[in-house]
Amino acid sequence: MLAFVPVSRAADGPLPSSPPVDALLASGPFCGAERFADAPSADGDAPHIKVVYAYASDVGDRFGLFGSALQLYTKAAAAKVALGSDKTLRLDRGSSCGSAFLDVQTVALGHPVGAYTTRSVLDDIQSRLPDRPGVNYLVFVDFGLPVLSAAAGSWARDDSPWATNAANLPAHSRYAYLEGGGADFFGSEQAASQYADQVLHEVLHTLGAVQPSAPHFSGGAHCYELFDVMCYTPKDGTTDVFLRNCDIVGETPNPGKPLDCGNDDYFNPSPAPGSYLAGHWNLYDSGFLCTLTRCDRPPAAPTARLAIVAGDGRSVTVSAATSSDPDGAVASYVWDLDGDGVYDAAGPATQTVAVAHGGARRLTVAAVDADNLVATATITVDEHSVPGQVGSAGSGTHSAANGAPAAASRPKIVVEALRLASGPTLRLTVTRRVTLAQVRARGLRARLGASRAVQVDVTVRRTTRVLARRRFAAGRRTRFVTLRLPRRALRELAERRTTTLTVETAAAGAATVRRRVVVAGAG
Ligand SMILES: [Zn+2]
Repeated sequence: MLAFVPVSRAADGPLPSSPPVDALLASGPFCGAERFADAPSADGDAPHIKVVYAYASDVGDRFGLFGSALQLYTKAAAAKVALGSDKTLRLDRGSSCGSAFLDVQTVALGHPVGAYTTRSVLDDIQSRLPDRPGVNYLVFVDFGLPVLSAAAGSWARDDSPWATNAANLPAHSRYAYLEGGGADFFGSEQAASQYADQVLHEVLHTLGAVQPSAPHFSGGAHCYELFDVMCYTPKDGTTDVFLRNCDIVGETPNPGKPLDCGNDDYFNPSPAPGSYLAGHWNLYDSGFLCTLTRCDRPPAAPTARLAIVAGDGRSVTVSAATSSDPDGAVASYVWDLDGDGVYDAAGPATQTVAVAHGGARRLTVAAVDADNLVATATITVDEHSVPGQVGSAGSGTHSAANGAPAAASRPKIVVEALRLASGPTLRLTVTRRVTLAQVRARGLRARLGASRAVQVDVTVRRTTRVLARRRFAAGRRTRFVTLRLPRRALRELAERRTTTLTVETAAAGAATVRRRVVVAGAG
């Protein structure tokens, strides 16, 4: 079977790193007892990202091998956010070794790898991880096979700019997953930093990137700028139109893509007034991120209170000013004033609405604190409303339950097929004509290469009969390989003037390459 490439080799070269993230998560090997359920989170009810290791039933539990890689790549993704801002991903931390390690949960999938060619691994993942609004999952799926490399993140269409965005108040858990396995599991197939970018890419989908209204949107929640963590599809989806506005950050062997090239499509710590991100969903405002100076303590959610403060039969004034936040202050209020279940605007704590004769109207406020945590309260008003009436609080700070406006649309899964599903390309060169004496003396020689590190089976056949087969490691740098033919095959070659042999390659996911060699035998 394929050899496991140690993390140390996969991570060869510099990964994105940031001192504040180093202070949160250890850089060395993972430490902690393997967990099969979620331990209570230090973040309590605050939104956070939970890392999961899942394995197909015929692969077996290899958490011991990959625990360090999971932490390494997740940490690198978090560091990239911290490099471009004063925030990072709020990760579920805390193993039995302490808070410097991720709280990773192991999940045994119900089926062997082969079953997932026809069934959805996401369905299986979802059925085994509790749906808890406010908990988003980052799942590393161990399929034991490099060819199945694929990834996906759930994404909802909602470009509204407030903390009430469907990506920030998801009615359900969001799932990002990456499939891998074998030698290619977690980074050895790509430069380590590219894999870290891949991890970040899927997580950013779950946080709401990239909306169709974004300036460089190119379909499928992606964009068309080179280079950008979220961009890889051309503008119109078919012709090769990319804008090269940014360069790769970092250098060989670990180049990486910038987080939101130009800071104009999905992430900007401080968008200019009037710019796209000032008026649309900006992932910087996600509650799934924490401010670096505050990541180490669990944030407390605000409490929303809504009460009628004036009413004269024609209009009603409501106030959310007594809303509070135990570890700070309410920073903003977002209102649904027309009762259509969609938040309309951010605005002051006090609002006056006209009440139509004989009609009741439902008002909802979302109180948002400095951590972008949200609490909601709802009240129904009509021409009989009088001061002193109080509204009801929404249940749960991060659920859309209790009648508060729900997520704008059901999340979709963005499957990253284009980039990752492609197999390696193999190269094979042989000398077209050799003598039997040469084959006897030094075997059949070929030059072997591959577009990425992969194991290749090289077979020598005479018509359909296999004379020799051997497995070689191949990579970008071509190498000479030698196949020795058994004595019986050499005797057969000696009986004929010339014999045509076929040299053939096979590697997981790769197209077969065949070359003919004419061996001049007796005569
Ligand atoms: Zn994507």
